[in-house]
Amino acid sequence: MSEQHLRHLPSVDQMLRRAGLAELIRRAGRETAREGLREVLSELRRELRGVNGTAPAPDPERLADEAERRLRARLARRDQALTRRVVNATGVVLHTNLGRAPLSRAALAAITEVAADYCALEYDLGAGRRGQRGAGLEAVLRRMFNCEAAAVVNNCAAAVLLVLNTLAEGGEVIVSRGELIEIGGSFRIPEVIAKSGARLREVGTTNRTRLADYERAITAETRVILRAHPSNYRIVGFTERPAPADLARVAATHSLPLFEDLGSGCLIDLSAWGVGGEPTVGQALEAGASVVAFSGDKLLGGPQAGILLGRADLIGRVKSNPLMRALRADKLTFAALEATFGAYAGGRAAEELPALAALRATKAEITARARAFLRRARRVAGGLRFELIDGHSVVGGGSAPQAELPTTLISVTGARLGAAEIERRLRGQTPPVIARIVDERLVMDLRTVSREGEQELLAALGEIGSREGEQ
Ligand SMILES: *Cc1c(COP(=O)(O)O)cnc(C)c1O
Repeated sequence: MSEQHLRHLPSVDQMLRRAGLAELIRRAGRETAREGLREVLSELRRELRGVNGTAPAPDPERLADEAERRLRARLARRDQALTRRVVNATGVVLHTNLGRAPLSRAALAAITEVAADYCALEYDLGAGRRGQRGAGLEAVLRRMFNCEAAAVVNNCAAAVLLVLNTLAEGGEVIVSRGELIEIGGSFRIPEVIAKSGARLREVGTTNRTRLADYERAITAETRVILRAHPSNYRIVGFTERPAPADLARVAATHSLPLFEDLGSGCLIDLSAWGVGGEPTVGQALEAGASVVAFSGDKLLGGPQAGILLGRADLIGRVKSNPLMRALRADKLTFAALEATFGAYAGGRAAEELPALAALRATKAEITARARAFLRRARRVAGGLRFELIDGHSVVGGGSAPQAELPTTLISVTGARLGAAEIERRLRGQTPPVIARIVDERLVMDLRTVSREGEQELLAALGEIGSREGEQ
């Protein structure tokens, strides 16, 4: 043991003040550097504890050098990762190509806790034997939504496939022609129905489907009535679609399950923030849907997952489907989902979940941030010109396509560099910055940029701007 030796180890703050690290800290961001230093120093602390007590005391300067070397290596590994963190300056809050919802601090802590160790994933701690995967979270969901049963799978597409395969294989699924949607990435309702082993029975027309259309289509072959949320598009004008409660009544009259694919899985009414037209999960259940499916990483603001809620008999059958094993979620998902639903249960969702906080930000708040950013950007990136312009952010993730969230965009122009070249160079920074080009101008929206991301954005612009200033 050599507790004495530990005194020679520098502190995180001493390391942060080290002159040789200034540039690295600026580029990586202070919080990231602090986090990295904490880990590097605790690694060194463990190693020193293992050293024989009679060994000579380590040289403090050598220890600091070693900590610096390890921090550099750690950050370099991170920069080269293929699934690399990026700064999302697009203003698209649930950007599917950029991993949709960023997780809350509580979700991150929950993931870290279970990732590096074992956890009670499928273990009944009371009985001391094998339990059911996710049983705890399912109980939370049943209470929260006042429903009979819940199940969690890998994503909403998996949830839809699984339900249709379980309830309708070999039979017919009735769907309105106005809901034969494609979500993107080849998820098309008709194809998913075909893959589930069921047959599609289309009713109504693209813009109008009435209750009577559904009623006429019901035969002995019918297994399920499916209602799919047209997530990423809207039919406006001369339209008609039965109210969910009316459709639920028709389904119940014929002893058929009504399955509602909600897609986004919005838990709270977001219309006050300008995100209207998204039915909440609670509303769908109250209207009488037998089973609802929704995503974990869209408007819910959590990890990628598919959540099923509804009748115990139906969800019980879904869970005993052999496909369940192929589509199940892992321990990290369960940990992060539990923390995400915890934010809703505690009434803290709008503050704690980054996606909701980004949606809620007002134009005035974003403008104030953009003004302050502009002053700093002009100092560090003299070769570029900055300007504030009015614009709109987008919800993304195939949710609320009509929602236009007013924002203030930062436009960036160069003396020599065109918009496409600035965009390309931003993508080449560490971390890469993803921006948009609107009307041949490069624009950035701070709605989707964290405070740490702002620092990185400044560093990236400084890098490009100083080159632009040269010649
Ligand atoms: C997004 C969406 C899906 C697919 O959800 P994933 O979680 O991405 O698999 C399915 N149905 C609807 C209506 C959607 O909007």
